[in-house]
Parts: sequence; C-alpha cells; structure tokens
Amino acid sequence: MDTILVVNAGSSSLKFELFAIGEGLHKRVKGQMDGIGTSPRLRIKGSDGQLLADTCYSQSDVSNAQAAMHVVGAWLRETHPGKLAAVGHRVVHGGPDYMRPVMVDRDVLEQLERYVPLAPLHQPSNLAAIRVILERRPDLPQVACFDTSFHRGRSLVADHYAIPERFFVEGVRRYGLHGLSYEYVAGRLREVARDVAAGRVIIAHLGNGASMCALSKGRSVETTFGFSALDGLPMGTRCGQIDPGVILYLLTEKGMSVSQVQELLYHDSGLKGLSGISNDVRVLLASDDPCAAFALDYFVYRIGLHAGALAAALGGLDAFVFTAGIGENSAEMRARITKNLGWLGARLDLGRNSNHHLCISAPESRIGLYVIPTDEELMIARHTLDLIGSVTGSIPSGVTWMQDPG
Ligand code: ADP
Repeated sequence: MDTILVVNAGSSSLKFELFAIGEGLHKRVKGQMDGIGTSPRLRIKGSDGQLLADTCYSQSDVSNAQAAMHVVGAWLRETHPGKLAAVGHRVVHGGPDYMRPVMVDRDVLEQLERYVPLAPLHQPSNLAAIRVILERRPDLPQVACFDTSFHRGRSLVADHYAIPERFFVEGVRRYGLHGLSYEYVAGRLREVARDVAAGRVIIAHLGNGASMCALSKGRSVETTFGFSALDGLPMGTRCGQIDPGVILYLLTEKGMSVSQVQELLYHDSGLKGLSGISNDVRVLLASDDPCAAFALDYFVYRIGLHAGALAAALGGLDAFVFTAGIGENSAEMRARITKNLGWLGARLDLGRNSNHHLCISAPESRIGLYVIPTDEELMIARHTLDLIGSVTGSIPSGVTWMQDPG
C-alpha cells in the first residue's frame, strides 16, 4: 500500500508520522528522535499506541538532522517496505508569498531559504530535512506545508506594525503561526457544528507553544502571534507579548548580547521563567509553591485579555474552542479560562468539562465551548495527498522511502 510520510524537523528533534493511503488516510506509526547531537533517543509507536521502538544512540551516530533522517529512514524501510508516494513537511515560514502548500523543487527550496531570517530557530531545520531527501531522492515528491499560510489574506491593518512602510515591504509583518492546527480544528468544527463554524470563533491552541486565532466564517482574521513565535500569549518557555522597550533596556542598560536576549525570551521565560519551576502546566498545577500558582494566574489572565481583543476584532463571539496539550487535557485550566470569558456569556458544564466532552458549554451559555483535539500531521498528510494528486492527476505508483541512503 502507498504511504505518505509527514516530517516535522526541529533543531534537536525529528518528529514523523507515516500514513497509508487507502480509502482516506490511515495512521500507521508515529515517532520522534529527540536529543539529536546530544543524547539521541528514538521512540516509535503504532497507531494503537503500542511502543514499537525505544532506542538510544551515541552522540556520534546521530550528530545532526541528516543522520537522524537516515536512522529513521532505515527503520521505516525495514518495517514498512511498501511504496512511499510523497513526504509532507511542516515548514514554519512561507513568508508573504506562500498562501498554500507547495511542491518543493530546488527553486522553491531556494526561495524558502530567504525566510530563514524570519524564523532563524526553526526554518533551517525544516529545510535541512527537505534538502537531505532532495539530494538523495530527487524523484520523490516533497510538499512544504506552512504554519503561516492560514493567516494570509487577512486585512492589511491586521498584517501591519506601526513602523515605516519600507519595513512591511521587506517582510516585517504580522504573519501568525500555528496555521496548520487552526486549519485542522476549523475543519473539525465544520464537521461537528456547521452553523457555529460559519460564525465568529476563537480557537485557543494551548500547548507548550500557545496562541489564539479569531476566525470569521472559518477564515483567520486576527491572531496573537505576530512576526515571530514570541508574541501574544505567554508560553512554556517563551515570553509572549512584551514591550519592545524591555528588549532595548536589556541590550543597552544590562549589556546583554543579542544571543543572551534571544535565549532569555525563547527558552527561559513564560511559565518556566515566571514560576522558576517548570514549563509544564501539569507540574505547576501539582505544585503548592506560590510561584507556580502565580505563573498559572498570569497565563489565564493573558488568555482572557487576548480573547477580549480577538472578540473585538470579530465584533462579538459565537464560540470558543480549546485545543493542544493544555486545551485538550486540562479540565481545570479550561474552567479557569472560561471563568474569564464570563462577560462574553460563557458558561461551562462542569460535568462535560471534566469528562473532556466535545461540547462543554452549559445550556444557558451564550457562546459554544468546545474541546477539539488538533492533528497537524494529518493536515499535512491531507495537503500532501491533495497536491500530489492534483499535480500528477492520480496518486503516483510510489517509490520506496530513501532506498539509497548513500
Ligand atoms: P507542543 O506540541 O507545543 O510541544 P503540546 O500541544 O504537546 O505542546 O502540549 C504540551 C503541554 O501540554 C505540556 O507541556 C503540558 O504543559 C500540557 N499538558 C499536557 N497534558 C496535560 C494535562 N493533563 N494537564 C495539564 N497540562 C497538560
């Protein structure tokens, strides 16, 4: 059976999921190589959640993304000898130009390189994975799916910063991220509550990375992320919205270097920075340290503030949807966040919330409250299948995953 491989390549991790193409797409295996270049460990699970592999490697065996791709490729070739039809990649930045997924060749790859300065921590690893396959298997179709695409086509005011226009022209814009998640969740909402999805909706993607998106008739009109992955909500280790004057202060008065400020804002801030304990909401909820409680209070407060801004952008609100690690799993956090949406008419059904039902609003609630698990990998697999189908007119007969790893 033909398969599609979805790859999400980060700076020190490689996530992947294999889908079989049958009547629709079927999940086969999902895995992750962590600690690339430090303490590499590969874990793979089957579609039923059963652990299929858990192997540690030496630092020298998996020293970079290329080596990780080879290890994963070898495992997949051995266990899934069928035909690989295409690889779909999560690519963080499609810049101002890419409004939808694209088939990648050398020219497109070169164009995507231009967006590295827009996402210096993520784009290079995303593109490195594409390049490895392009070099070894130029015949294998590869599709890039962007986190930014879903937000393209918004109003110019939503995309702008109030700095001279020449910066907008050269690409300093409010792009927004988490687009693949929003696209998937908006699609699911259409399936389960068509009328609601056609109205004014906020989706809250609350994971280690966190953002919210305002959708009108299923399309993004505003979001909390801006130019980079730092803006908007506080996150596990990222600061969220911050006065740019603070950055200037750190650089000029504190004498911090650019890389020290970058490290502080991306890796030592957010829930971890505020609590001084952990970036993980589970740990903070279980802690009786007042700093843990304060970090969670701050998170909930900022979600409420941003929800107000997004509701204003929509001119009202019909539904609020929770997704991602915190949004899908923590009834307590959902309850606390919903309390702050009370002025918008939100009322929670406590029983349905604690049982993680799809619809968790009480009958008297003025807005619908939903919990919809996200699936960015499935979204990428769908885009990949659509694109190879539309380019070739049919699903290609396929080629075996990196047969010649060289
Ligand atoms: P990402 O994909 O951005 O790395 P996820 O969407 O997987 O993140 O979310 C991971 C986060 O979700 C964890 O760091 C943790 O804070 C939170 N999380 C997961 N399960 C629970 C739970 N049962 N209760 C509270 N928080 C949870």
